[in-house]
Amino acid sequence: MQLFAAWGEPRYRAQQVSRWLLQRGVTDFEAMTDLPAALRARLAAAYRVDTPSVLASTAADDGETTKVLLDLGGDASVETVRMRYDPDEPGERERATVCVSTQVGCAMRCVFCATGQQGFTRNLTPSEILAQVLHFARTERVTNVVFMGMGEPLANTHATLTAVRWLVSPDGMDLRARGVTVSTVGLRAGIRRLAEARLQIGLTISLHAPDDELRHHLIPTSAGTSIDDLVEAAREYIAATGRRVTFAYALLQGVNDSPEQARLLATRIRGIQAHVNLIPYNPTAGPGLRRPSRERVRAFQRALQEAGINATVRVERGVEIAAACGQLRTDYTERQRLALV
Ligand code: SAH
Repeated sequence: MQLFAAWGEPRYRAQQVSRWLLQRGVTDFEAMTDLPAALRARLAAAYRVDTPSVLASTAADDGETTKVLLDLGGDASVETVRMRYDPDEPGERERATVCVSTQVGCAMRCVFCATGQQGFTRNLTPSEILAQVLHFARTERVTNVVFMGMGEPLANTHATLTAVRWLVSPDGMDLRARGVTVSTVGLRAGIRRLAEARLQIGLTISLHAPDDELRHHLIPTSAGTSIDDLVEAAREYIAATGRRVTFAYALLQGVNDSPEQARLLATRIRGIQAHVNLIPYNPTAGPGLRRPSRERVRAFQRALQEAGINATVRVERGVEIAAACGQLRTDYTERQRLALV
């Protein structure tokens, strides 16, 4: 916008260019045919639209789930996943969700998460977040974007909010705000900023435990924040946006998956417009954690429901392609290392 003003161009030129870039995924300024030739040439001389190249890629579920490792240059790479879902109602269109990363690595150190074990390298820029969506949107229709890839979105709040604004802007990708969800490990200041942005997007808070002691063990960086604090933050978010909040709960066998723990969880989050999404642990190469049996997952879900809490089990996607957060990058790095020896 400022650039076009500085060049003495009218404001609508910026809108034309952002629509070419984000709605049609065009990377060549010469192809932006509704711009004057002189402006196209000036843009082409000053800028280049980079598209990250694919370092590794895997597919599962008959190609409905695809995961790519994108090269961001200088040794940095991130994972992005696209999942296609059947329509919820007959006659509706298929949904395609892109799961984006917001950081290279992550500083939160969740004990069950492959990215958590990689450590933190750097924040992504808004363009690097959008480039992940565009990677898929150039060749297929994308309806939903979830910030559930590598990294903690609310430890990179400015880039996350900027990317979200471009995703939902009519001059950007023009997605429905309801089709965008940010998932956070539970950073209160970030949740507050998201609420203040009043964007009508979905919020998921990763809880993973019904008591603070266990939660701090599973998320070592969470010590300053209690479950009560997060329930309060969720309440504020709902009041500010009118949107429901989801609590994510990764189920780990013998750690946080007993029916008693489900009942305790229900007492902690009762009374707000919340919903629990259970994620059976997706085994990573990491330490001795295990996924509970299907029966145990069902029993946990039932205990929540009987206590009046709406609970779903996340549809499993791409287990065989290591679709869990950070796994492809871990595998790739491992292969690189092996190739070097
Ligand atoms: N930093 C954000 C996004 C992380 S990935 C957050 O913490 O919410 C999205 C979800 O997947 C989080 O709830 C995260 O805790 C969970 N997750 C990560 N690794 C997992 C694994 N191996 N099995 C199950 N869930 C996992």
